Amino acid sequence: MGKVWFVGAGPGAPDLITVRGTRLLAEADAILYTGSLVAETALQWASPECEIADSKSMDLAQVTEWLLDRAARCQTVVRLQTGDPTLYGVVAELARPLDAAGVEVGIVPGVSSAMASAAAAGECLTLPEVTQTVIFTRVSERTKMPEREHFAGLAAHGCTLCIFLSIERIESIAQTLEEAGWAADAPVVVVHKATWPGEELVLRGTIADIAVRCREAKVERQALILVSPALGARQRAPRATSKLYDASFPRRFRPARED
Ligand code: SAH
Repeated sequence: MGKVWFVGAGPGAPDLITVRGTRLLAEADAILYTGSLVAETALQWASPECEIADSKSMDLAQVTEWLLDRAARCQTVVRLQTGDPTLYGVVAELARPLDAAGVEVGIVPGVSSAMASAAAAGECLTLPEVTQTVIFTRVSERTKMPEREHFAGLAAHGCTLCIFLSIERIESIAQTLEEAGWAADAPVVVVHKATWPGEELVLRGTIADIAVRCREAKVERQALILVSPALGARQRAPRATSKLYDASFPRRFRPARED
């Protein structure tokens, strides 16, 4: 019996898959990819003998069946997903029947679009004494949100928010942010196709105008919304610097300086 690997392909740029991910793709006897262009680009690492299939038109049961069948016949099976497989990637649902069948499962992390979007915008998701918490979330659409995770409640924390799968609801997101206490002129960054060669678009706006900017730029899908008091930190005087680089703060490999 083979092993099934859930591999993160990264956010878009072909060189943002991990070295481990490329090694597994090269070793794979069978690859099932998510039908996204990101995953397709990563297929360049597959060997010519490898069986490659697109799961675009399969339902969950068919994907499960495919993985179980190939695991019974091959040594290395890869389920290739965009970004990091553990975020909005239904890995638990797919791994459960594999676990039940005694098939070994491994997960290879990928660069999530949240990280890629922050990097594309040149922003940090945390800032000393300003925000030390990041919430990854989405706004309910077809997928029902758990009761205690309604966006208004999450927004009220005032920490960094990385909002996936929700660009079509940017208007109501902006409105809820304001109701939750964010200033109308608080910065918002929307990144469309982060790291995709030639296609990446970084839109900067405020809670008041980001929806209009998205509409004008025709950004309606494949975008990540970043809301954070850390946005624009490079253009502002520092409130506090990280203790990590503070000369008076002792670290394991660097004694504190008295001066
Ligand atoms: N596992 C993926 C997320 C899959 S859900 C990850 O870790 O990134 C799909 C959502 O991710 C999209 O709706 C969008 O919000 C975001 N996304 C994926 N790739 C993106 C990219 N290159 N740029 C911006 N957002 C992206």
